[in-house]
Amino acid sequence: MSIKTQNISFAYHKKAILKEISFALQPGTLGVIMGPNGSGKSTLLKIINRLIEPQSGTIFIAGNDYRKITRRELARHCGYMPQKSAAVHCTVFEAVLLGHQALNPERCEAEKGLQQVDKILKLIHLNHLSDRFTNTLSGGELQRVVIARALVREPKILLLDEPTNHLDLINQLEVMSLLKEITHKLNLTTLVVTHDLNSALRFADSFILLKDGTLHAAGPKNIITSECIEEVFNLKSVIAEIAGFPVVVPIQQD
Ligand code: ADP
Ligand code: MG
Repeated sequence: MSIKTQNISFAYHKKAILKEISFALQPGTLGVIMGPNGSGKSTLLKIINRLIEPQSGTIFIAGNDYRKITRRELARHCGYMPQKSAAVHCTVFEAVLLGHQALNPERCEAEKGLQQVDKILKLIHLNHLSDRFTNTLSGGELQRVVIARALVREPKILLLDEPTNHLDLINQLEVMSLLKEITHKLNLTTLVVTHDLNSALRFADSFILLKDGTLHAAGPKNIITSECIEEVFNLKSVIAEIAGFPVVVPIQQD
């Protein structure tokens, strides 16, 4: 399902946080939202997931104005992972099953739920950890459980707020690689907030750059230039190609 935001503006207590944000993302695309702390990334993701309402502008989901879609229906289409999610103490299987039941507990068909959890655990390469307690997992494994939870209701849109935060280098790469794989395999429209420019350059199809609540630029990889990085992050850098991948190398500032 495509996402198209049209002139989204949002304010907390009259303080403008997002100003006239417009961009579009197609199915089968991994998009990243990037920008300095406080630039409005999490707010934008919450608006798309309809946790908060913009003061003006709207969003089209698969071409339909999202205000005409019921919240329940939107929740069925969108898998959302907030920046801070509470840990649950249970097995991996139970944690993912909870994600399935959260939406529609009274009508949940038990057998279907169990099958669905099995399917997703295999897809995310977590089936071997199915009976492990979540508090015994590594950061990277736990993050994959959280992604599995967001995926278990078969959403068409995936919204993830800093899924690679606090992960070591190898797990950052694995999570981004997994997100690219499932986005393409399931034809999802995936939007990820991340600070990791190099993983984004390696795996993402589309970039949305925010600065002080405004959209600085949106588009494919080639919008990421050293000028653009300096304007958005106030950081001098060069972009070099290493082992076939573009890599951002910050330059020491005196
Ligand atoms: P980012 O995710 O890019 O770091 P956020 O979207 O979380 O930024 O926040 C953008 C701005 O909105 C920040 O200045 C932040 O302090 C402010 N903000 C976020 N949540 C609230 C809130 N609940 N009430 C008031 N201001 C908020
Ligand atoms: Mg944030």
